[in-house]
Parts: sequence; structure tokens; C-alpha cells
Amino acid sequence: MKTAFSTNGTSIQDYIEPALGRCKNFLVVESGSGAVRVVPNPGAASAGGAGVQAAETLIRLGIDKLVTGSVGPNARPLLEAAGMVSVTGQSGKISAHLPAAGCLPETDDPRATVSMRSGEKTLGTDAGRKPAGYCFCRHCGHQTDDDSGLPCFKLKCPACGFSMERRFN
Ligand SMILES: [Zn+2]
Repeated sequence: MKTAFSTNGTSIQDYIEPALGRCKNFLVVESGSGAVRVVPNPGAASAGGAGVQAAETLIRLGIDKLVTGSVGPNARPLLEAAGMVSVTGQSGKISAHLPAAGCLPETDDPRATVSMRSGEKTLGTDAGRKPAGYCFCRHCGHQTDDDSGLPCFKLKCPACGFSMERRFN
């Protein structure tokens, strides 16, 4: 689904422009992919018929839903005839409207989920690496009680220099 926002900006951090015909750009957000596209509004610079030009541009883009402040009387019937849903009376940051429009900001959701997952994974790995039991020297009977995280066979006995081995409690 393609949702268009009327704006004078070029990103989802910009604000919804109240008048459809006079906004500089349309910000088109595709749900699913979250792709954002900026399309200039040809009506912005024209002397008259701005609303109609804006409507025709939106229809040509195949927009399913329009989020804006207001739609003029000339543009409204065109949008309705094209089967486009117009949500008027809207304002504020475009990004704040994306969840309601079925579109998620392209930066937030997926990466946040991924980094949370990898964070859990890291914690799990740390816990798995922690040695159980203690290291024991078969030669002299010395044993360690530290959790250095190193395998016992890599340690030399501090008392006699022999290789240590893992013992479990
Ligand atoms: Zn020893």
C-alpha cells in the first residue's frame, strides 16, 4: 500500500503541510518495504488549479491513501473517483503518522529487533563461557577457585607449573 503525505519537507521527520494543493512535495511511503519517495507537487508553483494538479499526480503515482490537512473542493471528487482514501485534518510530524498508516519508519523497527536479539545472544554466550567447577593440579593438588573464563588445560599450576585440569563440584 502506498501512503502519500503532503509536506514542504523531504523526509518522515518533516511536517504535514495543511493544504494539499500548495505543499511542495508529496512524501510517498510504501508499507511493507518502508521505502520513502519524495515527489514534487506540480501544483505548488502553478497559478491556479493547484488542487487538481496535485490530485492528478497522486492518482498517477497509484497512491492508496492520502494523509493531509485539507483537500480542496476541486481535488476531492478526483481522489474519490480514483478510489483513494483521504485522511484530512492531519498535522504534525509525518513519522508520527506512519504506524497508523500501516507503514513503519524504515530506520526503527527491524534493526531495533535485530540488535535486541544479538544482545540476548551475547549475554547467552557469556553465560555459556563461564567455567563450572574449578581447575585442579593432579601433580600437587593445588586448585583454583577463580572464574577466569580460561580453559583449565591452558593454565599452569601456580605452585608447581604443571598443566591444570577441570574438576567439577
Ligand atoms: Zn601443582
